[in-house]
Amino acid sequence: MLLKNEPVYIEGCTAYRQDEIKALLARAIDALGFEEHIRGKRVVVKPNLVRKMDPERGGTTHPVMLEALCRLLFERGACSVLIAESPGGVYNPTALGSVYGGCGIAAAAKSAGAELNYDCSYDTLSYPAGKKVRSFPIITPILQADTIIDLCKLKSHGMLTMSAGAKNLFGTVAGVLKFEMHARFPDSTDFSEMLADLNGALYGQKPILCICDGIVGMEGNGPTGGIPRRMGVVLVSENTFNLDLAIHRMLGLKSTPALLRRGMERGWCPEDGRELCYPFKRPEDFAVKDFLLPDSEKKSTLQKVLTVKGGALARFFEPRPLIAKDCRGCLECVRSCPQKTILVRTDKKGRKRARIDPKKCIKCYCCQELCPFEQVKIVKNPFIALANRI
Ligand code: SF4
Ligand code: SF4
Repeated sequence: MLLKNEPVYIEGCTAYRQDEIKALLARAIDALGFEEHIRGKRVVVKPNLVRKMDPERGGTTHPVMLEALCRLLFERGACSVLIAESPGGVYNPTALGSVYGGCGIAAAAKSAGAELNYDCSYDTLSYPAGKKVRSFPIITPILQADTIIDLCKLKSHGMLTMSAGAKNLFGTVAGVLKFEMHARFPDSTDFSEMLADLNGALYGQKPILCICDGIVGMEGNGPTGGIPRRMGVVLVSENTFNLDLAIHRMLGLKSTPALLRRGMERGWCPEDGRELCYPFKRPEDFAVKDFLLPDSEKKSTLQKVLTVKGGALARFFEPRPLIAKDCRGCLECVRSCPQKTILVRTDKKGRKRARIDPKKCIKCYCCQELCPFEQVKIVKNPFIALANRI
C-alpha cells in the first residue's frame, strides 16, 4: 500500500565502497522496520538498467550498490534474490545478457550469489482502480516475488524532468509493450497518470522498498545522455512518491514534476516535502546546487504560457528530437520509436543515417534515451528559437 506517512531514510555516502553501502542499507532497513518482508521471502531486485552503458556514466544502477544490497538481503534471511529488469528496447535473453554484462551487473550478481532473470514471459496485472490503465503486462518474476526492491537511480529525465523511485517501476512492464504505453499516452500528464496507475497496481500486490542510488547520479540530458553528477546520497523509503518528493526538495526544482503531482493528487504523498518524516538526515542536508535540467525542460516564456494552456499547440512548440551527423545507422532508435516515425537511409557515401519524420513524432524522447551513440539531440522548435532571437 502507498501510505502518505511512510518515512524517508536519507544518509550521505560519497563513494561506491561495498562495506559502507551495505552498512548504510542495513541501518535504513532497521530504521524503517522492513526486515519482516525479507526474512524467508523471495526477493526480486528491480534495478535501473535502461540500456547497456558504463555504470560510471551515472545512468544505471551501480554494480557495487547492487552487490552490497544482495549480500545484505541474504544476511537478513532472504530465501532467494533475483535481479529482474525489462530494459528499453527488445526483451529477450540475448538482449538481457548484453545489458547485464554491459552495466556490470552480471559480475556483481554472481559475486553476491544472486540470480539474473532470463525468463521473458509476462502476465496481466489487473488494477480496476486505474485512472488510465486497468491492466498491465508485467514481467513474470515481479508477479511471482514476495517482495520487490525498487533499486533506482537519481537522474534527470527528458519527458518527466526527473527519474527516481516511481518512474523506475516502468521497467516492470514487459519489453516493447512499454513503447505502446508511450504511443497511447504521448502527453506527459497522461503518461504520468499511467505510471501512477502502475505504482498503485504493484503496491496493491506486495511490499516494495525503494532504494535510490544518488551517490553519483545524472543531470542534464538524462536518463542516458546526461552527465554524471556526484550527489553523495542514498535514499530509502517504502513509498516511491515520498522518496521522489524528498529528491524534489533536495534538487530544489521550481515546479513539481508531472509524476510526483499525480501522486499528490491521489493522496499518496503530501503536497510539501517538509511534511514528510525523515528518521535520520533531511533533504536540505544534501541540497544539490544548480542541478542541470534536460534540454526538453528549457522552455521560453512563450512556451511556458502555451504549456499552461495545454493541448496540441503546446505540444507542437515543445523541443523535438533531431538526429546528429555522426549517426551510425544502428537502427536502435527505429526499433524503439513507438510511432514508427524514424527511417534509416543510405547517403551518397554509402553511410546509413536515421531521419525522423516530425509529423508523427510525439516527443516521448525514447529515441534519445536508447541511442547507444548519443546521436539524438533535443532542439528547440524553430519558431520558438526565432521568437527568442527576436
Ligand atoms: S540515431 Fe543513434 S540509435 Fe538511431 S540509428 Fe543513429 S546511432 Fe543508431
Ligand atoms: S522520433 Fe523519438 S521522440 Fe519522436 S516518437 Fe519516435 S522515439 Fe518518440
